[in-house]
Amino acid sequence: MVRHSHLNSPFPEDDDAEIEAQESTDELIRCSSCRQMVYEDADRCPYCGQWLVDTKPRGLPRWAIITGWIILACWLLPLIYLFIWTMLQHR
Ligand SMILES: [Zn+2]
Repeated sequence: MVRHSHLNSPFPEDDDAEIEAQESTDELIRCSSCRQMVYEDADRCPYCGQWLVDTKPRGLPRWAIITGWIILACWLLPLIYLFIWTMLQHR
């Protein structure tokens, strides 16, 4: 029996390609505790019960931090201008 390697195989490795495609569509993250691949949408690891939200940055959401900095800048900028103005007045 001669194996014709140059011919197209009637059974290409479609199974692996399909599995890779499915894995790529789902956002999987690696559990920090048990190193198992779990869905990113899951709140807890189904294998060890580790809370997956702990891996994400805690605290205020980004929009709240940005708006906080903007409000802080709106307060600080006039104070800085006032400080510079008073310094110039004393000369
Ligand atoms: Zn886990």
